Amino acid sequence: MSASSHQSTQVEKDVNLKPLNTFGLPCTAETLVRIHSDSDVRRLLDDPSLGAGPKWVLGGGSNVVLTQNIKACVLKVEVKGMRCVATRDDAWIIEIGAGESWHAAVQWSLAQGFPGLENMALIPGTVGAAPVQNIGAYGLELKDRFDSLDAVDLITGRSFTLNGEQCDFGYRYSVFKGPLAGKCVITRVRFKLPRPWQPVLGYHDLARKAQESGPVAVTADQIFEWVCDIRRSKLPDPSEIGNAGSFFKNPVVTEEQCKDIIGRDPEIVHYPMADGSFKLAAGWLIDACGWKGKSIGQAGVYEKQALVLVNRGGANGQEVVTLAKAIQESVYGRFGIRLEPEPVVI
Ligand SMILES: Cc1cc2nc3c(=O)[nH]c(=O)nc-3n(C[C@H](O)[C@H](O)[C@H](O)COP(=O)(O)OP(=O)(O)OC[C@H]3O[C@@H](n4cnc5c(N)ncnc54)[C@H](O)[C@@H]3O)c2cc1C
Repeated sequence: MSASSHQSTQVEKDVNLKPLNTFGLPCTAETLVRIHSDSDVRRLLDDPSLGAGPKWVLGGGSNVVLTQNIKACVLKVEVKGMRCVATRDDAWIIEIGAGESWHAAVQWSLAQGFPGLENMALIPGTVGAAPVQNIGAYGLELKDRFDSLDAVDLITGRSFTLNGEQCDFGYRYSVFKGPLAGKCVITRVRFKLPRPWQPVLGYHDLARKAQESGPVAVTADQIFEWVCDIRRSKLPDPSEIGNAGSFFKNPVVTEEQCKDIIGRDPEIVHYPMADGSFKLAAGWLIDACGWKGKSIGQAGVYEKQALVLVNRGGANGQEVVTLAKAIQESVYGRFGIRLEPEPVVI
């Protein structure tokens, strides 16, 4: 890697992205620019050699599968800062820089006395990427705590603000995976943390922990600890085994489809949704097809949770994609359901 100062934009050349993606996949970025503010984006856009070319935004690299070297200029988001911007009767509003670690932001908000994000503790990645797929875990999604965000348009350099409705959040979806995909950089996110705080214990693992702890009132710190413990026992730590978390979205099917599958596979894990549809556990479908613990090349299916694909050491992005396609074909062949990958394949 070499670095040169391009006008006032600091450009790094031939950057090794292997340590910058949690799958640990080999990949080089021809050019990389670190973004610390909205004006850094505008400076880059004004740069005669980089401004007009393609760009790709990178956060913590925990939801990407890198299959080839990247020719587009990589914008590594490193906008910092965490502060409370309003204390209202009904909520605390906190604002976090997009380059902050998500887990550090959850810890900071709890330490400051602003609970509400604890169910989403220990999700890897940055705060700026969290709205992109509307992250969620243990009964809570980002949209449930979202206020607004600031972003910069990658063509015009104009800063703009979006509220929740404009972000069009859905299950692992937002406008940043639809019409705004690749078109802007999120630089700050504001969260609305309801007052008074109420625990969210609907998820079965958390409900069980609460039951085991007896009649004492549950605190946000306690939920944070439980979520961290449960996650550590179920998910591989990317610093030890490369992975991108859940590799496929849980498919949503109609009641008729669900009944049809239950008729053939009575044990299928399924959850009723508010709109009458059913969410099926993708991990269960993959396991039922016999994939748990299997590998293609150095890419494998995690032994403890079939929804997680892992790098057994030295895997490349193509091997991960080949494994994912083979799994999709088996699941389609047996259940007639198309699994959709959660990470972004580049
Ligand atoms: C072990 C493990 C467990 C996980 N558990 C969960 C979980 O429980 N729930 C869940 O929802 N996810 C989970 N994930 C997935 C991942 O952590 C989240 O999707 C996270 O939000 C990705 O953040 P990132 O900064 O690493 O994004 P990256 O992987 O760097 O980027 C992901 C996408 O977002 C875009 N992007 C990133 N930053 C910005 C920005 N500032 N502006 C515009 N676009 C941007 C990128 O271009 C890319 O398309 C898990 C991953 C791992 C490895």
